[in-house]
Amino acid sequence: MREHTADRADDRAGAELRADCGSCFGLCCVALPFARSADFAIDKDAGTPCANLRTDHRCGIHATLRERGFTGCTVYDCFGAGQRVSQVTFGGRDWRTGPPERSRRMFEVFPVVRQLHELLRYLTEALALPAARPVHADLRGALADTERLAGGTPQELAALDVAAHRQRVNVLLLRTSELVRAGTRGRGKNRRNADLMGARLKGADLAGADLRGAYLIAADLTGADLRGADLIGADLRDADLTDADLTGAFFLTQPQVNAARGGPGTRLPDSLTRPVHWTAGR
Ligand code: SF4
Repeated sequence: MREHTADRADDRAGAELRADCGSCFGLCCVALPFARSADFAIDKDAGTPCANLRTDHRCGIHATLRERGFTGCTVYDCFGAGQRVSQVTFGGRDWRTGPPERSRRMFEVFPVVRQLHELLRYLTEALALPAARPVHADLRGALADTERLAGGTPQELAALDVAAHRQRVNVLLLRTSELVRAGTRGRGKNRRNADLMGARLKGADLAGADLRGAYLIAADLTGADLRGADLIGADLRDADLTDADLTGAFFLTQPQVNAARGGPGTRLPDSLTRPVHWTAGR
């Protein structure tokens, strides 16, 4: 039976930590730089609106992003930072109509708030894991600190040392990972930051493994057992998860899943959505 804490955590994740593009001024399409690559068809500087962004802050090529070479846009998720910066930090004032210095500050703080929201997402998930109960009090403290920082003024957010805060939170997330994986048979499998690019891991037993920050780009993980694995920061771009079992895998985010390949036989944690392109053959 799930805990009340977990239910509240799920509510938070659903309501606040997912992108609500209708409440955002298209910040990810303006604030972030793009380098021409397999993910983006164009180069673009940070703070420059994408040529495909319409004046109503909608994407003009939304239905054909992958075909037009903008796969990166279909993978990205701001974890709800866009709507917070647009509607709360800047009180609903559009960058298109404000003075240039205010727009610049908005573009500057958006990546900061995105990092804080990503941390809120991990902390919320950690609080929903019963095995992490010994550190729940510390996790709640870190959640409150992170929420307070994310609610800062534009000036406070611009001055924040977000990397230092990430490091502090990461200590707790590591401890959470140890506690959760302690009860699994694969707890000793340490692939942290491992270079597994293009690795042949078909049918591999990676249940309960530590795959934090592992480079799994284009790895063949078809039919792999990834149940209860820690996948925080693992690079799953073009990894093949067809028929893989990720039930109970934790610290796995929607952008990671979106960047991978999979199919109807891929088993995902309940909180994650099966990407449309897995079934659309794109
Ligand atoms: S292509 Fe569309 S989704 Fe991607 S950055 Fe440009 S406007 Fe945004």
